[in-house]
Amino acid sequence: MSVARDEVFTQYIEKVQSRVTALYRETEQFPLNHSHQLAQTLEELSLAVEELHVAEEELLAQNEQLAAANHIIEAERQRYQDLFNFAPDGYLVTDMNGVVLEANHAAVALLHLNQSYLIGKPLVAHIPPAERVAFRTLLNHITRSRRIEGWELTLQNRRAAAIVVSTTVEVVKNAEGLGVGLRWQMRDISDRKKAEATLSQLQAENLELLEADRLRAQLLATVSHEFKTPLNAILGFSQVLMAQFDGRRDFKSTKMVQRIFHNGQHLLGMVEDMLNFSRLRADQVELNLETFDLTEMIVTTLAELESLAQQKALTLKTQLPDHPVVVVNDRGRLRQILTNLISNAIKFTDVGQVVVSLEELPDDRLVLQVKDTGCGISPEDQQHIFQEFWQVHDARNTIKGTGLGLAIVYALVQVMQGTVTVDSELGQGSDFCIELPQSVAPTQNHPAACRPAL
Ligand code: ADP
Repeated sequence: MSVARDEVFTQYIEKVQSRVTALYRETEQFPLNHSHQLAQTLEELSLAVEELHVAEEELLAQNEQLAAANHIIEAERQRYQDLFNFAPDGYLVTDMNGVVLEANHAAVALLHLNQSYLIGKPLVAHIPPAERVAFRTLLNHITRSRRIEGWELTLQNRRAAAIVVSTTVEVVKNAEGLGVGLRWQMRDISDRKKAEATLSQLQAENLELLEADRLRAQLLATVSHEFKTPLNAILGFSQVLMAQFDGRRDFKSTKMVQRIFHNGQHLLGMVEDMLNFSRLRADQVELNLETFDLTEMIVTTLAELESLAQQKALTLKTQLPDHPVVVVNDRGRLRQILTNLISNAIKFTDVGQVVVSLEELPDDRLVLQVKDTGCGISPEDQQHIFQEFWQVHDARNTIKGTGLGLAIVYALVQVMQGTVTVDSELGQGSDFCIELPQSVAPTQNHPAACRPAL
């Protein structure tokens, strides 16, 4: 009730009250029996008026409460309107046929339209033609399902590129439970969709690369294997020829066959490297774990490479603990790692020494180091040194290899749950350091990791 109407009502009651008082006075002039009856009636009337007065006061109090409640409702409505308008997601209210009745700022922004162009128009107008049939079918379906969540809709408009929105639609019901409209929530997921598309494309490309890599490794293994048979024949026959020419003291021919033999051996070494590496990559690497003394294995390996060092007048040294260091590892593979590192150290050192050291670390780990005083490796080349087929392009580096030795070392050390690093300075020498667990844990077969290209 408004304030003005309150006042009128109060004035009206006051008027009635003053008339009752006047009537009361008038009755005093009536004959006694009449006046008594009348006075009684008036007394009752006066009581009724008073009750009316009390009721009026209560009404006024209720009115005030109502006004306060109205104020709160208005504030809440405004709050809802602000939330609706400024929500980060697009919110729309449509009738049951999808004609837009309300749209918040985000919805307007999603559709790149003015509010006036949006209100009163069917939402289907913003759906690309190819998707309209599906849109209408789902719209019909909502009446039954009452709510659809995560519906991916494409919104198309003339001014900007199409976007994909994740949509939730809900039926708005009246007091009788009848659907009177639809409430739409839309979230732009175009970026996520693009990222998903890129990811699946990358995954497909990755699979292709893996397959190409597998085929390459297989080809390498097959070709290397095919090389080995004729090479062994060449080496075998050149040895026979060497013996014959030597017997006849035909030194010129002996020298020529010796060159065939040494080049053949070099070639065989390269083929072996390729074969080893391709096996490591293509097959599953299985470590043949055994318990052995690592210091003894280092000494034996060095003894085999002693002659190589002597040819270049290099000193081969060891720095080993004075007690056996018992390890659990694949003896053959660990020896292959050591041989690759020591022969590289000899190959790339002209003057000085090669030192192989072994140190036990806490936590059952150990460090194996091969240090030389050779030509060294530049910081730039150190980044790539463990990649397959990487060789330093240097005028001084005339020694030819396959560029696979360190890639094999890297792959094997990974399988052994260890790490390999290099510390080197040009002209000063190199220090290859391998850290390994003292006991390699048996693991499932897995392909050896390859040092990623940097
Ligand atoms: P390869 O020795 O067959 O060329 P590797 O993978 O064993 O292949 O070595 C790759 C390259 O790393 C070598 O060509 C060489 O340039 C460099 N390198 C390896 N070990 C040393 C070392 N001890 N001192 C200097 N350079 C080295």
